Amino acid sequence: MSPPDRYFSSSPIVGNQAVLIGPEAHHLVHVLRAKPGSEVTLFDGSGLEYLARIERIDRGEVRLSVLSREAIDRELPYRLTLAVSLPKGDRQKWLVEKAVELGVTELVPLKAARSVAQPDEQVRARLQRHVVEASKQCGRNRLMGIADSADWFAFVAATRDVPLRLFAHPGAPAVRQAGWQPPTGGGHDRSVYLAVGPEGGWTPEEVAGAVAAGWQCVGLGARILRIETAAVYLVARVAAEIDRHG
Ligand code: SAH
Repeated sequence: MSPPDRYFSSSPIVGNQAVLIGPEAHHLVHVLRAKPGSEVTLFDGSGLEYLARIERIDRGEVRLSVLSREAIDRELPYRLTLAVSLPKGDRQKWLVEKAVELGVTELVPLKAARSVAQPDEQVRARLQRHVVEASKQCGRNRLMGIADSADWFAFVAATRDVPLRLFAHPGAPAVRQAGWQPPTGGGHDRSVYLAVGPEGGWTPEEVAGAVAAGWQCVGLGARILRIETAAVYLVARVAAEIDRHG
C-alpha cells in the first residue's frame, strides 16, 4: 500500500481551516490535479496529523477544511543531534533526506578547519525544503531542525553536559567497543550527540579538543566513508545499539 499523500502547511494549523501555498499547493493542483472535495493528509510540524478536505483552489493557494486531527508520534525515543561538516552539492540533499528518515532531531552544520561548504541563507532554505520533502515521504510529523552553523570548538564547549557524545574519526575504536552507555534518564540524559567531520578529516587539534571535552572518538570500519555515508552509518549504528539495550 502506498503511503497517503501528505502535505505540509508552513503555518501552524489552528481551528478548522488550513491553507497550502507555494510548492505544496502547486503539487496538489498541477501534479495531482486535485479538485475541491478531495481529502488529503496535512501536517504542520507540531506533531499532529490532519485529515482535510479541499474547499477552494485559487491562484497559488489551496483552502481546506480540517475534518479531524490526531497526534501521531514517529520520533525516536530520545533527542538525536547530528553535527556534520556539510558535503557539497547534491550530496547535501541525500544527507538531509536520510537524516530525516532515520529520525535525527536536529542537524547542526559544522565549521571545522577543513570544511568546504558553509550554508548561507539560500542553502538553508534549500535544506529546509529537503526536510519537508523527506518528512512528507517518511511520515514524520515533526520537522528535523537545521541549526545555525557552529564552529567545532564552540560546539564541543557548549555540549559538555551531554552524557553521550560520539564523533567519528577513522582508526578509532569501533562504535560498540568504545564503551559508551545508551541514554537512560530523563531530560538532558535522553540526548545523543553525534558528529562527522569534513572530507579532509579533523585536524589533530580538533580531535584533541573534543576528547579533552569528553567527546568519545569512534571508528566506522576499515574503509574511508564519504561524509554522508559516515553520517548515516553512525546514526543507524548508534540507534541500533540503543535499541538493543531497550
Ligand atoms: N582523510 C580523512 C577522511 C575523512 S572522511 C581522514 O583520514 O580523517 C570524512 C569524515 O567521515 C571523517 O572526518 C569522519 O568523521 C567520518 N568517517 C569516514 N570514514 C570513517 C571511518 N572509517 N571511521 C570513522 N569515521 C569515518
